[in-house]
Amino acid sequence: MATEHTFCRICEALCGLEVDVDQGRIVDIRPDEDHVATRGFGCLKGLKQHKMYGSPDRLLHPETRSGTSWRRASWDEANASIGAEVARIRRDHGPDAIAMYVGTAAGFSVLHPVFAQGFMTGIGSASMYSSASQDCANKFAISREMYGFPFTLPFPDVRRTKCLVVLGANPVVSKWSFLQVPNPTKHLREITERGGKVWVVDPRRTETAKATGEHVFIRPDTDVFFLLSFLHELLALDRRGERRLDRERIDRFTTGFGELAAVASAWAPERTAEVTRIPAETLRSIVRDYAFADGAAMYSSTGLNMGRNGSLCYWLQETINAISGNLDRRGGTLVGRGAIDFPSFGKKTGTLLSNRRSRVGAFRAVNDAFPGGVLADEILTEGPKKVRALFVTGGNPLLTMPNAARLRRAFEHLELLVTIDIYKNETGSIAHWVLPATSPFQRPDLPFIFPLMLGLQSKPYLQATRPLVPPEGEQRDEATIYADLCRASGVSLFGSRIAQTMVEGLRRVAGPKLGSTGARGVPQEMLLSLLLRATRQGSFEALLEHRHGKLRDDHEERSFLGSRVLTDDGKVHLAPPALLEAASGKLEADFTQERENRRRLKLITKRAITTHNSWTHNLPEFVDKDRATNYLYVHPDDAREAGLAEGQAADVTSDTATVRVPVRFSKDLMPGTVALPHGWGHQHAAGLSVASKTQGVNVNLLAADGPDRIEKLSGMAHLTGIVVDVRPAAGPRDPTSWSGVSEG
Ligand code: SF4
Repeated sequence: MATEHTFCRICEALCGLEVDVDQGRIVDIRPDEDHVATRGFGCLKGLKQHKMYGSPDRLLHPETRSGTSWRRASWDEANASIGAEVARIRRDHGPDAIAMYVGTAAGFSVLHPVFAQGFMTGIGSASMYSSASQDCANKFAISREMYGFPFTLPFPDVRRTKCLVVLGANPVVSKWSFLQVPNPTKHLREITERGGKVWVVDPRRTETAKATGEHVFIRPDTDVFFLLSFLHELLALDRRGERRLDRERIDRFTTGFGELAAVASAWAPERTAEVTRIPAETLRSIVRDYAFADGAAMYSSTGLNMGRNGSLCYWLQETINAISGNLDRRGGTLVGRGAIDFPSFGKKTGTLLSNRRSRVGAFRAVNDAFPGGVLADEILTEGPKKVRALFVTGGNPLLTMPNAARLRRAFEHLELLVTIDIYKNETGSIAHWVLPATSPFQRPDLPFIFPLMLGLQSKPYLQATRPLVPPEGEQRDEATIYADLCRASGVSLFGSRIAQTMVEGLRRVAGPKLGSTGARGVPQEMLLSLLLRATRQGSFEALLEHRHGKLRDDHEERSFLGSRVLTDDGKVHLAPPALLEAASGKLEADFTQERENRRRLKLITKRAITTHNSWTHNLPEFVDKDRATNYLYVHPDDAREAGLAEGQAADVTSDTATVRVPVRFSKDLMPGTVALPHGWGHQHAAGLSVASKTQGVNVNLLAADGPDRIEKLSGMAHLTGIVVDVRPAAGPRDPTSWSGVSEG
């Protein structure tokens, strides 16, 4: 038995791991106590993931569906058939008729997204979709407006801050987003131990709120009004001379202060308290703690991103951090430097800065991808560029996208649906082809986006890992899969014959043998090494020597403003015209609607410690006994009013669907709020033998899609803070229906 060192690729914490391997199988995983950054931290999901990847449900061969039956196929047949269909659709309908959906799993690999993009560029298609429009596209869209590039993402200096305001985020369970910090509980507690303050503003008393700090309830999806009043009060402290803003710094490094202040002027805390339910004096206390701290940061995540105003919320958050002097300072928010200066590269080459608009709804691309919330319309609406083929790579849109029932009907109209995954999940179950990919432990890697390109790490470091176990059956890595699909479709990677020829040449001389066929795969380690050398980070082999990671220089304050802001004038734009336009009218309209809905229940989503999006429900010990379903969490007062008993089934109805789910009481919820964990509803996954027997329902059935129901600025789906009705169930639960409701 050998012990290897690697890192987890399930969530952004990227915990260092120590792994026991015996005869080609992983038998145990422990946190790496000596890791330079993660220092022995790891969670249940990360430490059990070998059971997930070692499941008998793993795809071993390409499979193709005819009606309801599946059969095994060879890679040659799969590539030839898919390539012929791609060539036909491209010839008859143009390249944009072929679309791709990139899921979160692809983001935890270096070569997967690169080769997937290479395939789409080779085809000449701009029809890219990604999971970002479900959880974070608002941040990219706003960063582009304010800082000139979507991946310029300031993060809180958690190790040094004296005041952290956490909005709509639960790092103790979900870890941080756009920031790699292991052991969130420890880091949050250290803030208070050094005399600082943590405020958690959330409709639920979350695990984070219980671990540390002071919790304040906020009515779901009213965060934009909280932030407007926060800004209003920050400006009032300045006006009264109690806490002066550094106007010289603001004038030197930003534009639009006056216009920003004008937006906030209408939103005194006394006014917004009516909808946020946060008393004006409580809000003022939070503002004062933030304003007088020697280094403060405001941080938010999916609770805001997935609301109706995710973009406006992130804009206001970033302006607050900027004008208070906390942007680009220790203890405030920092802008990391990756091993590659990706923002400058992107700005020079136009990477991720496309101004293309979607055919349906004319949404501007975010990170060169269109909103998933219009994908069903793009498939169902006749006309040039109608989507006819879809590649789904490392994702499961039928569980994670809004109005999943309508999306499923749309997918059934596709002429070609291909999933590249480790399992046949819900989306794969209705695909024409499923292609078996390798799992993280079967491939070499670097911790991709965060350290390498962006430096989004509390403690910067680099690490490399070899594959720990070989592929089984005919599983292949995505680089090889897309290189082959390019050739089979008659195109070249990135539309470059040089790139395709170079990859083919490297395969011939250095590629690993693929299964029993004698074919050779893409030499991934060699490509990763070339990437590291090109960015002056040494070789892959040299980095492997640092088994516990290799520390990089720490972040510097005052390294961003005036030097790395990529707007045309080099200043942070506090009041971009697109945001002012979006704010005018919409804020008042939303405020009025909030007042009208003040007695309605609002639904938020939630995550359990053993689940990660839609991924981890196929592990028996994570979904056994009473964990075999999700529950609707209801405050006892709301339950009484609705006539609901604990354990009873309830019908939850939005304006798109009704789902039936058992009730649990929770006093941790703000009255008027119900919570339903996401990632459930696997009953239709033909290839998930454990998850398909669970009883949970898909919360995203309750969310609306379509161009009029998603956020205009970033195309974000509205997945939390949805107005719903909840009643005792009107009949038995039917796990065979898509909604868990007996139909007809
Ligand atoms: S927190 Fe858990 S899932 Fe996330 S990287 Fe660490 S071990 Fe993996």
